[in-house]
Amino acid sequence: MKLDYNEHPHRRYNILTGEWVLVSPHRTKRPWQGKQEKIPETKRPKYDPTCYLCPGNTRAGGEQTPKYESVYSFTNDFSALLADTPNILEEDGLLKAQGETGICKVVCFSPDHSLTLPLMEQKAIADVVALWQKEYSELGAKQSIRHVQIFENKGAMMGCSNPHPHGQIWAQYSIPQEVERKTKMQRAYFEKNGSSLLGDYLQQELDKDERILFQNEHFVALVPFWAVWPYEAMIAPKKQLQNIAALSKEQALAFAEAIKVVTTKFDNLFEVSFPYSSGIHQSPTDNDYPEWHFHMSFYPPLLRSATVKKFMVGYEMFGNPQRDITVEQAAKKLKGLSNTHYSLK
Ligand SMILES: [Zn+2]
Repeated sequence: MKLDYNEHPHRRYNILTGEWVLVSPHRTKRPWQGKQEKIPETKRPKYDPTCYLCPGNTRAGGEQTPKYESVYSFTNDFSALLADTPNILEEDGLLKAQGETGICKVVCFSPDHSLTLPLMEQKAIADVVALWQKEYSELGAKQSIRHVQIFENKGAMMGCSNPHPHGQIWAQYSIPQEVERKTKMQRAYFEKNGSSLLGDYLQQELDKDERILFQNEHFVALVPFWAVWPYEAMIAPKKQLQNIAALSKEQALAFAEAIKVVTTKFDNLFEVSFPYSSGIHQSPTDNDYPEWHFHMSFYPPLLRSATVKKFMVGYEMFGNPQRDITVEQAAKKLKGLSNTHYSLK
């Protein structure tokens, strides 16, 4: 007897975190009577006088955003982490707390308020990658910083309050638990096999070619076997690189192409500006991490249309994540979509 991934409920193992996801393929047939979201607004002006990220405007804290011409980063005026926090551990019986030192930055991808990553030129996305590289290296070089998290929340559905194309960086002293888990899993594999866990996995995926969305000389984009979100995707370099600082100019341009293709396919899926949270997981900055293979993940909430999103509730809060549409169905759908944005046709 063999598992039929399209019929049998089954669990899939995430090799990077050691966690499981429950897959219930037969459930896609159920009718939807749940919540419907609003379709996101697509047409925006190139410049919005009320947007604090548009060049030349004044931010809420009184600072002025300069008249930048490509990319621009600055320390968040309302940071979740502060650089001068004492990094002390306090224990009182079973109560344990630690001060967290950190720096939060905002990264503007473009001065043009109307754009999003899929609508930007590949070269302009490469400028964003170059700024991420610079920030990762500069923040990571600080004594008080051991981990740099680069991420983007896109769309009101993901809690993004400003549509101006931008992302964030949270750099901090402690290493976040998701990264700790991935370090542990990659290290165990590297010590046993002497090779990159993700690199060997990518090779298996390239051989099978069931979940691959796109590849160029240096990068692969795919829906990982253990994906939790309906249209989750991952971009990773074919050759093991610990972090984005190791990217050459040519590799950074190839990375930009993969980002443009994946985000364009997302928008083309339901012909809307597709909401997601994306982030780059890479080696912490306090040491050499020969086991680490950096990757960028996209977690989009939309499920079956522009207005129906997946909720992480009930069993998923108390047990583990669950999905209905299979990874292979999602990959097939995304792969089949055009690499040209629907609004440009
Ligand atoms: Zn703006």
